[in-house]
Amino acid sequence: MPNGPPMPEFRSGFVAVVGRPNVGKSTLINALLGQKVAAVSPRPQTTRRRQLGILTTEAAQLIFVDTPGIHRPRHQLGQLLNQEVEEALRGIDVVLWLVDAALEPSQEDLYVASRLDRLERVVSLVLALNKSDLLDRATRTERAAQYGNLLHHEFMSIPISAIRGDGLKDLTGMLIRACPVRPAEYDEEQLTDLFERDIAADLIREAALILLRDEVPHAMAVLIDEFKERTNGVAYIAATILVERDSQKGIVIGSGGKMLKQIGTSARREIETMVGRKVFLELRVKVEKDWRNSDAILRRLGYKRD
Ligand code: GDP
Ligand code: MG
Repeated sequence: MPNGPPMPEFRSGFVAVVGRPNVGKSTLINALLGQKVAAVSPRPQTTRRRQLGILTTEAAQLIFVDTPGIHRPRHQLGQLLNQEVEEALRGIDVVLWLVDAALEPSQEDLYVASRLDRLERVVSLVLALNKSDLLDRATRTERAAQYGNLLHHEFMSIPISAIRGDGLKDLTGMLIRACPVRPAEYDEEQLTDLFERDIAADLIREAALILLRDEVPHAMAVLIDEFKERTNGVAYIAATILVERDSQKGIVIGSGGKMLKQIGTSARREIETMVGRKVFLELRVKVEKDWRNSDAILRRLGYKRD
């Protein structure tokens, strides 16, 4: 007879993180993965694209799909985002519904809940009540009930604080237990190759959003034109910041190119931390009127497939 407890069986699964903008999805993914993966910003909708972050432990691998904010469609992009939410909910094992427990459920939360209720497949549902650091015990209990009442499927629920790290161990355990026994999908090398480009684009966009404050809000997108390894261990990245109007281009470049330089410096530092090597970053700004309605650009940004 072998000694000691039996080796637990390895579990792995796809976890879709859903929730309306600003509830803390990016903050949570970053906290869980311990590195900067999704863009975090105090403004809603920084995360537009479907992104993956992967958490690998000795016992399990969780592949997070960071879905864009679920909201009602306005223009073409809005519609695509909603399609993408539907898509993200296909082929997944666990839905992690993140809510801002500091607020009462809103119309948008009802909308999210109704989508989750429409899921046909058997999928585990975890309701994480975020920002619980802002609440007293009684309000926590009340909010857990208010949000829980919106769901008719079976679910598990847990209060967390993504920003403080409270409850994240328990949440991880809950997610792992909800996954099937299955070998890991990715090894660490693959993870790096697959996502560095996307992460770089997000970090550039985040740097621009922070430095520009509210001047060029969501009319901005980042395309990675080139991402090459140079022999001297330097990553060379060329990227284009797309804006919709000449006036916005002027603001992004700044007088004498000062703003663009600042964005580049700030983004380069973040990317270097993420990729763990030196980065040479070349940024351009381009006006592309109405890019949010351009099929070609939306496809390049990964919002749309053929
Ligand atoms: P996302 O749009 O869902 O990705 O939300 P973000 O991760 O960008 O977070 C939105 C805002 O909520 C940011 O200002 C975060 O700092 C803040 N936030 C996220 N998690 C927490 C939390 O646990 N507690 C508090 N107090 N604030 C949080
Ligand atoms: Mg986000």
